[in-house]
Parts: sequence; structure tokens; C-alpha cells
Amino acid sequence: MTDAATIECPFCASTLKAHAKVCAHCGARRVAGMTAKGQPLGRGGVFFIRMFLTLWLLIALSMFAMESAPVGIGMLVLWSLMFFFNRRNVFPDGQGRWYRPN
Ligand SMILES: [Zn+2]
Repeated sequence: MTDAATIECPFCASTLKAHAKVCAHCGARRVAGMTAKGQPLGRGGVFFIRMFLTLWLLIALSMFAMESAPVGIGMLVLWSLMFFFNRRNVFPDGQGRWYRPN
């Protein structure tokens, strides 16, 4: 188990320490999350997305309680799409996401 503490850079395949934040070889860096367009997100960005999705869901569900079911259904459909594109930000795999500019 001597190599258990290393990972491979997903961009250049260099061997890195498992907790490395940056690849010294190609400059790729580990980020907290990623937008649907592939832009890196910091911890604040990931937190914002989680809060936004949670609030949106609560408001959508409250629409049913206020007997505005059509609005609630519309909001739930939109929420499903937003959740789908952000599923890896909401439920990270623990490996982190790697991002290399350009
Ligand atoms: Zn690399």
C-alpha cells in the first residue's frame, strides 16, 4: 500500500499526492465544484448553489400548501433541471473536481 497516498492528475497523468490541491506539472487545480459550463466554483459558490436549490424547493412545495399547484409544479420542473445540472455540486464524490484553465 505504498502508493495509496497518490492520485493521478486527470489532465496530464502525473502522479500527485492524494491531498494535492494543484498539479505541479500542468497547473491543474482541485476545485470545490464546477458549473454546468465547466467553470470552477469555490466553496462559497457550491454553498450558494446548495442554498439556492434548497430555498427553491421549499418555495415550490409551499405553493402546493397555498393551493397554487400549477405554479408549484412548474417550479418543481425547473428545480429538477437545475438539480440535474448541479448534482455533482450537491453530492460531491469526495475526490474533488479538477480544473485546468484554457
Ligand atoms: Zn497535471
